[in-house]
Amino acid sequence: MASTAADPAQKAGSSTEPADNKGFEKWRRTFALITGVGLSEEEFATEVTRIQNRECELRREKLIKSSPGVRFMMNNLAKAGCPVKSSMMECVPCDATKSGGFSNNHGILLCQNHFYSKTHQEQTMIHEMMHMYDHCVFNVDWTNLRHHACSEVRAAALSGDCNWSREFFDRGIRKFTKQHQECVKRRAIISVEANGNCPSRREAEKAVNAVFESCYNDTRPFDEFY
Ligand SMILES: [Zn+2]
Repeated sequence: MASTAADPAQKAGSSTEPADNKGFEKWRRTFALITGVGLSEEEFATEVTRIQNRECELRREKLIKSSPGVRFMMNNLAKAGCPVKSSMMECVPCDATKSGGFSNNHGILLCQNHFYSKTHQEQTMIHEMMHMYDHCVFNVDWTNLRHHACSEVRAAALSGDCNWSREFFDRGIRKFTKQHQECVKRRAIISVEANGNCPSRREAEKAVNAVFESCYNDTRPFDEFY
């Protein structure tokens, strides 16, 4: 799936304008965007989406170059026979409250309108790549709640969603505290509950509890760190 760059319609339109007008138009749009004056609601929304997309793509490229966690996962996916290209992590606007998603047909979706920081996007990329890794290495059936639960536990535990990846990737320190376990469990339950095959919160809890011990302790591909 290719990542979408600039709006082609806008490109085509601007190429026919004289240079002066282009500069003025850009200035007008920037000004209008800040003040909200002179833009229709629709224009404003389109502009915001375009800016968020660009920011998400720039961050993605930076993280691929410099984030130890993102690089680690990309290397391990390549080693496992499932190499990831940056175009397989597409920045898209999402209407749900989640920050990313993985689909075995479409790759990784990064919800450009839900990232509140570079670290948040970094964790989301690592989290979704953990699902990709599981899908590549283990025979995951995503309609099976226990399979899904296991991958969510691993992704939450190892991606830094529960806030320890910095220490881990920078210095190899790994702390499994009670708090960390609770955070992982809570996040995994929320994700499993969102599975179309999950009838209730109760079933999500059951699935997570059933696999928690073994999946929390299954730290592949991170084992080689210690
Ligand atoms: Zn997940």
